[in-house]
Amino acid sequence: MLALIILWNVLTRGSCHNFILMIGDGMGLQEVKAASVFASGADGSLSFQSFPHVGTMTTSNADGEVTDSAASATAMATGVKVQNHVISRRLPGDDSPLATVLEEFCSHGFGGGVVTTTRVTHATPAAFLAHVNSRDDEQTISTQIVAAGPDVVFGGSGLSQSQAIAMGASFLSTRDEILTLAASSSPPRRAVASFTFDQDGHMPYEYDRISSGRTDVPTLSELSRAALRVLEQFSDGFFLMIEGGRIDHAGHANDVVRNVYETVEFSNAVAAVKSWADLRRLNDTTIIVTADHETGGMTFLSGGRGVVPSVSWTTGWHTGVDVGAWGWGEHGSFVVPHFDNTAIHSFAKQALNDS
Ligand SMILES: [Zn+2]
Repeated sequence: MLALIILWNVLTRGSCHNFILMIGDGMGLQEVKAASVFASGADGSLSFQSFPHVGTMTTSNADGEVTDSAASATAMATGVKVQNHVISRRLPGDDSPLATVLEEFCSHGFGGGVVTTTRVTHATPAAFLAHVNSRDDEQTISTQIVAAGPDVVFGGSGLSQSQAIAMGASFLSTRDEILTLAASSSPPRRAVASFTFDQDGHMPYEYDRISSGRTDVPTLSELSRAALRVLEQFSDGFFLMIEGGRIDHAGHANDVVRNVYETVEFSNAVAAVKSWADLRRLNDTTIIVTADHETGGMTFLSGGRGVVPSVSWTTGWHTGVDVGAWGWGEHGSFVVPHFDNTAIHSFAKQALNDS
């Protein structure tokens, strides 16, 4: 009888499907190349460049224009193209809120969270958790994130300790707390982490974190490991969006040093996530790495290991070039040679429907 019960439990055990979307904001293919040459002396060395499935992705918004982060993240989160500045509402259209894949995971009892290096109310994380006409309405975005009640929100400013308490979440504000959480045998069910560096409320650029000795601020890799420690408690699966949010800011500033440091640390975060998935020894996790758009019109010219690359720039804003996409794990093969950013939503929904 016992053997039968064990067999029944094995046969009917819910299968787990974790979907981890990693977005390098403004990380075009030339940015990837520049960072790779800086890191190793050669292109192709960043963690995700060896993923088995590689493609390119179109990013234009609902008007067929160069996208901003709000429209591109909305396309990935909801599968619907919208106008720039819109956060997961049907515009053009009837202005109705668009369900996001993170909300859909959570409504089915799975885990859900976001990790970023910008304010947590910034456009990319907001598009997975909020529904407003303008990305600038960060006060409303903050309120809506609390109401959405995700399990992990890690990044810069945007949520207060009292908001975290209202969500039933632990509030973390030091690097030590993040490192302790990542190694904890009894992590909290929910966690919010907030780190600010300047009046913009973002986390410091990786270059500045290192050069100014901000050992009290965690890296994106460290935040990612801690986020996984919380979400892996959802034995049926979870959705996690991790953003390297300030590659874009360095692109706007045509700041090649900070751009490559941000991209290398984003690659480190991908490696940390893949190591976590490898250690599970279960083919139950999908990692998709991509960008929302390119920023700055960068062209890599020359460089070498540890040498600040020589690049040219064409703009201080975004460009409409296709970005890269890399897939690994259970549904990594969803990444085909060429697809549109709205397909990211379908990929994650497929993982959800398998759960
Ligand atoms: Zn931008």
